[in-house]
Amino acid sequence: RARSDAGEPVHFHSESTHIQLDERLTIEEQLRHALARDELTPHYQPKVDIATGKVTGFEVLLRWHNPVLGAVPPDRFIPIAEQTGLIVPIGTWVLRTACAQAGRWAREHGIATRIAVNLSIRQFYQKDLLQVIAAALADADLAPQALELEITESIAMSRVDVVERVLGGIRDLGVELSIDDFGTGYSSLAYLKRFPVQRLKIDRAFVRDLGRDADSAAIVASVVALGHGLQMRIVAEGVETEAQLALLRALGCDEYQGYLFARPMGAAAVPPLLLASGP
Ligand code: C2E
Ligand code: MG
Ligand code: MG
Ligand code: MG
Repeated sequence: RARSDAGEPVHFHSESTHIQLDERLTIEEQLRHALARDELTPHYQPKVDIATGKVTGFEVLLRWHNPVLGAVPPDRFIPIAEQTGLIVPIGTWVLRTACAQAGRWAREHGIATRIAVNLSIRQFYQKDLLQVIAAALADADLAPQALELEITESIAMSRVDVVERVLGGIRDLGVELSIDDFGTGYSSLAYLKRFPVQRLKIDRAFVRDLGRDADSAAIVASVVALGHGLQMRIVAEGVETEAQLALLRALGCDEYQGYLFARPMGAAAVPPLLLASGP
């Protein structure tokens, strides 16, 4: 650390900017080879029915372990994958790998569950998206109802003509849809009814603040009312405490996901979990 004559640390204003840029470039460089070097692993986090306590499915969450950078969280590398376009091959790989995994669970363990794969905006606007989805299902020998795609509210709010056509195509394949991180964007609620969406996922921020501020409870209550009015199921993300779960139940939420039940886990942990939690 550089010091002035007086012994004070010398602050170079741009220092942290350089470090951030450097890290960004390293992530980008390493991410280019992550697939070929087999550094990516899908993990699976259960979604649970609040009324019955049964596991209704799993969200697929990507994990990256790189020899140079160590474990890099998705919030660091997914945006870079988006900006560079690497998300398209990576996203296709996640979809195909998770479908293949669910197909094997069904054949080898008799497990019928649903996997939910996150779709980024770049993938959403990929020309052959519907063919990519259909091929992933066919090659995995997986029923379309066993797959769900999560799109963010911001994707749903992008070009309405394209969104309606792509979502309609996904529905026609028999694949389910949910809107992720709901409540963080500015969707007009009326707009949502145009889309063939089965689930709304309430963003973790509202769940975190439940019980701390009345606004979050009011927002959750209105999302529940809106979603139920449109025949959608409401899923709460990021549930960490029994108190949050109790409030969500009282507010009429249908499903939850969070560390309270389980963290995202490797594929090998899924069959034992389902066998333990019963049919
Ligand atoms: P998301 O789709 O909203 O996923 C939920 C995030 O909340 C995950 O973070 C999950 O691990 C985390 N989470 C679940 N329960 C709890 C909890 O009780 N407490 C807390 N604090 N967090 C909880 P993760 O795995 O770090 O992923 C972050 C984001 O990265 C995801 O947000 C999603 O937008 C993106 N992402 C992850 N995997 C993929 C992928 O395969 N494709 C794409 N396009 N995006 C992905
Ligand atoms: Mg998600
Ligand atoms: Mg989410
Ligand atoms: Mg999120």
